[in-house]
Amino acid sequence: MLNLPEYISPSAAKSYLGCSLRFYFERVANIQKPTSVALHLGKSIHAALQAFHLARWRGEVDSPEFVAKAFDEAFLQLEQKEGPVNYGDPAKREKAMTDGLRVVAAYLASPEALVEKPRAVEVFLKEDIPGLSVPLTGAMDLVEQDFTPIDFKSAAAKPNTETAAFDHEIQLVSYQLLLEAIGENPRSLDLIFLVKTKTPQVIRVSSPPADEQRKRRVTALLETAVEGIASERFHPQPGMHCSWCQYRAECANWLPS
Ligand code: SF4
Repeated sequence: MLNLPEYISPSAAKSYLGCSLRFYFERVANIQKPTSVALHLGKSIHAALQAFHLARWRGEVDSPEFVAKAFDEAFLQLEQKEGPVNYGDPAKREKAMTDGLRVVAAYLASPEALVEKPRAVEVFLKEDIPGLSVPLTGAMDLVEQDFTPIDFKSAAAKPNTETAAFDHEIQLVSYQLLLEAIGENPRSLDLIFLVKTKTPQVIRVSSPPADEQRKRRVTALLETAVEGIASERFHPQPGMHCSWCQYRAECANWLPS
């Protein structure tokens, strides 16, 4: 008998489609692993940008000092709430803090830093989508005045701007589907990469809204994940991603049940 999930998010679908067994260990069996430095840093940067965007939305103080303080606080709070972080060496913790502050400062000084009041910050939507058997959910980092959703990505290296929109298609098109479900039509679907190179870089990748074919394709991908989760189809999908998977030991013991 199918055990449908209550909803599907683009991140859950991408995780399931990437490797259904890793999805099972992480999100069904809830096997906890130390947080990676990259994930911890990404969440701290995200929290600092969120504080900046919310302050701009409310018309409050949004100085670089205010945003740096928000970064420091998020860094410490996340360590306490979601830690331990897999630093390995205390020097890596200091480096992560310095890298994060430099990246946040680079965003604020870049042409991509939000100037006008946004339409919304950290928008969570849950909507019924034709072709999907459960509601679709999504949390958008930022929505600009023309309803362009923006997702911020921390990255260690410069992204390939030719393929970035395709790589993140499930997420971007899901945001479009959610906005259309509430009667809005985004003009563009955007990613802003915050690259942690020695001199941090801020790179925006804009892509046009999806046409009907792309929307059907993404809906079908989301539904594939829903069906797989509902029928408890979890199996190894070995590939390059195994080299950074934290569940290799559990995976090695897998047998079909
Ligand atoms: S090691 Fe590879 S195949 Fe196994 S769970 Fe992790 S990602 Fe999947």
